[in-house]
Amino acid sequence: MIVGIDLGTTNSLIAVWQDGAPRLIPNSLGEVMTPSCVSIDDDGTVLVGRAARDRLQTHPAHSAALFKRHMGSAKAIPLGTRSFRPEELSALVLRALKEDAEAALGMPVTEAIITVPAYFSDAQRKATRAAGQLAGLTVERLLNEPTAAALAYGIHLRDRESKFLVFDLGGGTFDVSVLDLFENVMEVRASGGDNFLGGEDFVACLVDLFFATHKLAPSYRKEPAFMQRLGAQMELAKRALSDAPRTVVRVSAGKADFEMALDQAMLAQACAPLLARLRAPVDRALRDAGMGCDELDNIVLAGGATRMPVVRRMVEAMFGRPPACGINPDEVVALGAAVQAGLCGNDAALDDVVMTDVAPYSLGIDVSVKMDEQTYSHGHFDPIIERNSMVPISRVKHYAPVSDYQQYLDIHVYQGESRRADENIVLGALHVALPRGLRHECGVEVRFTYDVNGILQVEATVLRTGETRSLVIEDNPGVLSKAEIAERLASLADLKIHPRDRIEFRTAVARGDRLYQQLRGDAREALGTQLLQFESALASQDRRQCELACKALLRVLDAIESTPVLAPELVNEG
Ligand code: AMP
Repeated sequence: MIVGIDLGTTNSLIAVWQDGAPRLIPNSLGEVMTPSCVSIDDDGTVLVGRAARDRLQTHPAHSAALFKRHMGSAKAIPLGTRSFRPEELSALVLRALKEDAEAALGMPVTEAIITVPAYFSDAQRKATRAAGQLAGLTVERLLNEPTAAALAYGIHLRDRESKFLVFDLGGGTFDVSVLDLFENVMEVRASGGDNFLGGEDFVACLVDLFFATHKLAPSYRKEPAFMQRLGAQMELAKRALSDAPRTVVRVSAGKADFEMALDQAMLAQACAPLLARLRAPVDRALRDAGMGCDELDNIVLAGGATRMPVVRRMVEAMFGRPPACGINPDEVVALGAAVQAGLCGNDAALDDVVMTDVAPYSLGIDVSVKMDEQTYSHGHFDPIIERNSMVPISRVKHYAPVSDYQQYLDIHVYQGESRRADENIVLGALHVALPRGLRHECGVEVRFTYDVNGILQVEATVLRTGETRSLVIEDNPGVLSKAEIAERLASLADLKIHPRDRIEFRTAVARGDRLYQQLRGDAREALGTQLLQFESALASQDRRQCELACKALLRVLDAIESTPVLAPELVNEG
């Protein structure tokens, strides 16, 4: 069984293609969105999802979130006494999703389609693939997120002709794709985006606004527990502003209480630089697709951050019309991944559907440009595959050394659009030994092959000798080698994972602990007693007693979170 997984910055979802349609699979709490958070419990067991997200506030040094932003880098993320790479934490999320799917489907799940931002680099894609491997999944295909959203949207329209743009603003990344749908062919005409722009940046702007409003000392930024609480309150405020014109944020630090009123205009003003950054990738994708705004039949929104009215207004202003509604932007990418799973599994219902994608950025090498007989200007970027070429694609270019009897060529491979090579992202290097000879006798053919997963292969052949060198990008510190993956697999196998059938209980405790920290006085004491009662039920190991006590605790927690009038000090207070 192939599953489709949206491995998001903030939340992750898993779906399957079943009975001719994509279907989301809920986790053990019955929710289809699992927060992409990992925490190590006091006894060393791993918690994934909602419990881990609650523990970000109560146990920031033992919990992690937003690690997708570091995929493809060698960053070490400490959790308690251990340290993890971003792909290991992603693997723990994938493992939890895999187990949820296995429990729901009643069969082993070993293959997956995993979605990635279209703008993910080679190293980020390889890290995602490695995360799949570490979770015991064969990654059948890495699918670009906006392409997945387009598949979910377009699958119902496949007998029609339509042109549309997918505007995908997730937690950490922004992707745009322009699509052309005709006779069951879904063709991505162009993609664009920004790997460092997402809903989390809007929260960061609100945090900055809070610091500026209260003239808080920068030293507060060094207090992880305070920053977690403030971030969580700002996240709530940002979401509240999606449904209401204004909200109030209250956060305490030590003995001081801080309060800030927020409305749509303040949000728009604080985040104006972010909103402005949404325009360029859209313009570029449309230009690359050779399409004008007026040729689009629809704008499809994906990614949770498109729920923000300020973002919707920006979209409306850009396109001169409101975007398509009716598709849940949180779910559309996972549903599209499930459609791709159906395509990969050759499902009969999708027999005649063809999907084509593009390379979202240019790929090339650095070259020296001859200025006159004597001088060369170095470090220029020469694209071999231009951005938005249809994939898979293979392209060849010929190069010669700059001088006679040169002994070798060092070929540096880059992705990006800048004229200067060093302003682009370096992917790796190839060292090619040259035969002795004049420069025009020592030509080298460089072949770039870019596959449907967005993974690049580079080959250089010395034309005179036929000798070939291929690029091993695994040397990149952001990418694990085969041996390192095997080593990490063994170390992850040592980890204790929280038993699935007790996750509901553990999640209730984590939520109780978070609220306990926010309360004061009698309310705090009452919750403490309730938590103790629940813990003693857990100690009894009697399933029925645990379930009853859990229900009682959840009733109390729901009441605390939903009755601001009775307990005004609890509202939005960190
Ligand atoms: P995704 O990566 O697609 O799960 O998107 C997650 C992002 O969407 C996070 O930054 C969330 O804060 C944001 N988000 C989710 N729901 C809302 C909402 N109702 N209002 C504003 N932002 C939201």
